[in-house]
Amino acid sequence: MAKVLYEQDIDTGVLQAKKVAVIGYGSQGHAHALNLRESGYDVIIGVRPGKSQKKAEDDGFTVKSVAEAVQETNVMMFLLPDELQTGVYEKSIKPHLKEGDSLAFAHGFNVHFSQIVPPDNVNVFMVAPKGPGHIVRRTYEDGGGVPSLYAVHQDVSGDTRDVALGYAQGIGSARAGILKTSFQEETESDLFGEQAVLCGGMTSLVKAGFETLTEAGYQPEVAYFECLHEMKMIVDLMYEGGLENVRYSISDTAQWGDFVSGDRVINEETRERMKDVLSEIQSGEFAKGWISENQANRPMYNAINEKEKNLEVEKVGRELRDLMPFVKQPLQAKEQTKQK
Ligand code: NDP
Ligand code: MG
Ligand code: MG
Repeated sequence: MAKVLYEQDIDTGVLQAKKVAVIGYGSQGHAHALNLRESGYDVIIGVRPGKSQKKAEDDGFTVKSVAEAVQETNVMMFLLPDELQTGVYEKSIKPHLKEGDSLAFAHGFNVHFSQIVPPDNVNVFMVAPKGPGHIVRRTYEDGGGVPSLYAVHQDVSGDTRDVALGYAQGIGSARAGILKTSFQEETESDLFGEQAVLCGGMTSLVKAGFETLTEAGYQPEVAYFECLHEMKMIVDLMYEGGLENVRYSISDTAQWGDFVSGDRVINEETRERMKDVLSEIQSGEFAKGWISENQANRPMYNAINEKEKNLEVEKVGRELRDLMPFVKQPLQAKEQTKQK
């Protein structure tokens, strides 16, 4: 088994002696900054004027412009959306980097696909939490953590591995496990996971199941509970104890159905499509498409986003969730309520 690192494997003193700037205060940014501070590290925030600036100030942080935050610290974690990083890097980060600084990423996309090429005299590392930002924060507050991958791309100071591990410890990942990777492996596996399994695969599976039932005349409410609502309960069982735990809890009939039908839905053809997805990621074709979609102001992204909001599974879901107040509010609604 690969060596997984925990609290006792990490020399936290190396990062404690440095000053960290978290650049951006969004999903990952707020979680990293709050967790690092509570773990005893010295953190300031670099953001533009606006919503995030106010939020970080309300949370008690010293908040600077991105350029000032880079000037005043030795370790900068870059937590802007990947597609906006290049512009901000060229304008506000690169001109202010000092020899021996450490520039960090939470995903390898821009470095791996050469959208950002840091100068040779700085350290470059990655700490990529394997979970959404709000869960990085929530699990830390609950005493747990989200696992992270770390990678060192450039090490001019000789202590970059320790800096990266301290950072991963600070956001809570040493409680869950820290694993060594490369920028290439993290980028390709992360893109594959989100496209084929976690996001694309899962939402398409839910939509296909819901629509198969409703097109056959079953009530949309029944189809919603069956194909979307209950997904969380099954996934919780999987998170806690793997496939075995799901099969322990479900009926034998459900388990038999799992065995005889699962591989007919996700079949050889589906696996071939997964391989296509993976090779488009590996060749850089996916990255190229996403970069040009952004350069054109996202015509397809916006059109598909609108269409998806109006799907029947979404409409019936909104109505049913309103009647289940114990189901936690979606994160966006929660943040809007907080701002009022
Ligand atoms: P978000 O979309 O949540 O980041 C938003 C932040 O970026 C806000 O603080 C926003 O400020 C700021 N921002 C946006 N545009 C600019 C700009 N032009 N200048 C300055 N600040 C700007 O990002 P994520 O947290 O989703 O992603 C950050 C990194 O983490 C990415 O590399 C991503 O791949 C990685 N990652 C993300 C995960 C996730 O759960 N989302 C999971 C694992 C890795 P304002 O409020 O002013 O708009
Ligand atoms: Mg991911
Ligand atoms: Mg990702």
